[in-house]
Parts: sequence; structure tokens; C-alpha cells
Amino acid sequence: MNEASYDPDQRRGVVRLLRSHGITPTAQRIKIATVLLARPQHLSADQVLALTNATGKPVSKATIYNTLALFTRHRLIQELTVDASRAFYDSTTHSHAHFYNPETQELSDIPDGQLEISLPDTLPEGTEIDRVEVVIHLRTTNNT
Ligand SMILES: [Zn+2]
Repeated sequence: MNEASYDPDQRRGVVRLLRSHGITPTAQRIKIATVLLARPQHLSADQVLALTNATGKPVSKATIYNTLALFTRHRLIQELTVDASRAFYDSTTHSHAHFYNPETQELSDIPDGQLEISLPDTLPEGTEIDRVEVVIHLRTTNNT
């Protein structure tokens, strides 16, 4: 996290973004959102915790988890669960697919247009599609 991340223009932008998602901008929420939205990225809660606490007054782990849940509920970020024990928070919220490599624990975007999905014509009655989550799990090929 560099100093430039806390410039007043960026802070105003983050405050506006939080408000536009119906989130009250507290100091801690602004700090966490600034870390998350610095660039398109996929971070675990622990990474968000470490980056948030790299500067300034420390934020507790519970606050990080509660804030990530709040941001996800208000669709400021997207939560992706890649296995039972691992969730990532994605600063890109438009629908896109991912590669996940469990060996490196790295989640990355599949470029738009590289994956075609056909959706069912009919859905269970009284429902609509909320979102489509595609994660392609990778493993290292053994070429040696
Ligand atoms: Zn992504």
C-alpha cells in the first residue's frame, strides 16, 4: 500500500462509491475499500487484513470479516468460494469467469470472450438468475 492510495481525491471517490452502494462510509470502511479497490484483484480475508493494517491504526480481524460481508451484500465486491475453506474477494463485480490453481492458491480472471456458457432456457418456477459463477480448477501438468 503506497502513500498515493490515501490522497484526498481518491478518498472522495471511495466515499462516493460506498454511498452509491448504500454503505455508510466510516473511517474503517473507507480504509478497507481503498485497499480492495486499488486495482482489479482477488484477495483473501487474511490478505485484506494484512494490507489494511500495513499503515495507520490497526483494524481487527472481526471488523475485516464483517466489512467484507457488508461490501459483498451491497455488491461493492464479489465473494468467490473456490473450496470449502477458501474465499476470495474480487474487486471486479461484473460477471466474469476464473481460473483457480490450488497449488499456488492463485485466482485469476479468464479474459472476456474466451469462455462461452449456454444457460438453461427454463428456470425453477418463481426464480431468476442472480449470478453465474464459473471457476476452472487447474493442476500443474507433469511434463518432466
Ligand atoms: Zn475476478
